Amino acid sequence: MNDSTKSIDAVIVGAGFAGIYMLYKLRQQGLEARVIEAGSGVGGTWYWNRYPGARCDIPSMQYSYQFSEDLQQEWEWSEKYATQSEILTYAEHVVERFGLADGMTFNTRVDATHYLPDQDQWRVELDSGEHIQARFVIMATGCLSKPNYPNIDGLDAATVPVYHTGNWPHEGVDFTGKNVGVIGTGSSAIQSTPIIAKQATSLKIFQRTPNYSIPAYNEALDPDYVRELKSRYREYRQENWQRGFGADFDDNDQSALEVSADERQQAYEARWAKGGLAFLAVYNDLVFDMKANDTAREFFKSKITQRVDDPALAEKLVPSTPMGCKRLCVDTDYYEIYNQDHVSLIDLNETPITRIDGNAIVTGDVRHDVDAIVLATGFDAMTGAVMNIDIRGQQGQTLQDKWAAGPKAYLGLATAGFPNLFLVTGPGSPSVLSNMLPSIEQHVEWISDCIAYMNSHQHRSIEPEPSAEDAWVAHVNEVADTSVYPGCNSWYLGANVEGKTRVFMPYLGVPPYVEKCNEVVAAGYEGFALTTR
Ligand code: NAP
Repeated sequence: MNDSTKSIDAVIVGAGFAGIYMLYKLRQQGLEARVIEAGSGVGGTWYWNRYPGARCDIPSMQYSYQFSEDLQQEWEWSEKYATQSEILTYAEHVVERFGLADGMTFNTRVDATHYLPDQDQWRVELDSGEHIQARFVIMATGCLSKPNYPNIDGLDAATVPVYHTGNWPHEGVDFTGKNVGVIGTGSSAIQSTPIIAKQATSLKIFQRTPNYSIPAYNEALDPDYVRELKSRYREYRQENWQRGFGADFDDNDQSALEVSADERQQAYEARWAKGGLAFLAVYNDLVFDMKANDTAREFFKSKITQRVDDPALAEKLVPSTPMGCKRLCVDTDYYEIYNQDHVSLIDLNETPITRIDGNAIVTGDVRHDVDAIVLATGFDAMTGAVMNIDIRGQQGQTLQDKWAAGPKAYLGLATAGFPNLFLVTGPGSPSVLSNMLPSIEQHVEWISDCIAYMNSHQHRSIEPEPSAEDAWVAHVNEVADTSVYPGCNSWYLGANVEGKTRVFMPYLGVPPYVEKCNEVVAAGYEGFALTTR
């Protein structure tokens, strides 16, 4: 990196699970690649999101790499759902095990990357003032990595500490004896508030939109269960990859509307008792048919009512949006905190936040004095981290301009006009509507195979054909429109960020997506333009 005239094969932006595996795969081909990471260590989302209670909502036996059988056999998860710190330890273990740390530069941000058409190279500018020249740039920047700071008057001038769940202090925060205000009721709030409630003197939760949450029923992993699963781990994971979300949700290929109300109630109760995101797959049409969805909504409503003592408060916690159109949350004792005297819900639908005034969150004319503010306000999802970088392609066009009306990427892997730039789990790929780790592996392997193909066929550059890209973006939206997903103001649509264009970004359906990626390759990278040396 210090030799500014030298060109390497690839710069990989981000040292999360995508960046780690990308470096491993490119090194296997004998290529020189370098990971640039803003944090001081690896882990991506699991490095930054250290808020109390942070854990994965995909079962740990499914949330890991599978490229190395030895690794997946030897690694031992301790709980059904792994904590942030255990996942971070796992990421660090992988880096050490495969000797990858020397290919990573930490505490450094990529500010810009500009394509040099006459050289078929990218010039990558770092915030250290250095630059690197590389043939390929791979954005392994994660889907949920740019924190969304709400645009609330006075927030910058708050006189009390303000924490964002997505950028939590490494040393942790002790809320003992504090009056705490948490803004937001998504997964991060639903995981953190039960822990904050245990410490705080008072906790006020500011809710704009209620969410659906299902208990995790987290527990220590049973060694017999783990042994049995590991005896067929490879097959188990291949089977999961054939499922709609790429995860074992015990999918039921039956409509919610073809069974009696009693049978449905029993099925919902049985799934509820197991807990977790698998609730979405109890019937095959919950996210495709509003009538089916309504049956699940009613069931959720009854559960929230059972969990919250005060009926009027329970009513405020019941969502009116379709179930699943915002990411379902998984909790441990979330609704129960509202039964504690020192926890209260501030319903922003009744009175929105008008400003932060020193140590107070003000709604209407009411001041809520607090000692600390927690912003559980989510992320500029899927495009935020990529658009944060000044990326300029073939004709000097910026990605910000190209994506101003919504992101356009062929298969979520690459974007026309930006040759030799790849996106890992980019917009237009299943990504956040799938088990992220297998999706990351699929993308990294596709990209790595593509680079190997280009090298063996003397290709200089690759980029999508605009027509193929447009057709894919239209297809992503057509598929989304068959579902309940576009039916609320979710981050899948970019609706949570002020001024962001609303376009449904992830692709719904792992199996057809993977099939399409494979077909494209089999047809000689159909839909991509390749130039030859
Ligand atoms: P989120 O789901 O986007 O939730 C953000 C919350 O903040 C929402 O309730 C939102 O309300 C509220 N909010 C945003 N701006 C606001 C404002 N100006 N005033 C008042 N309220 C505001 O974010 P998240 O909870 O961080 O979760 C994001 C995603 O990360 C999840 O959906 C999930 O995919 C992932 N995640 C996963 C886990 C896990 O694995 N267990 C844990 C945490 C996060 P509105 O709904 O009205 O916009």
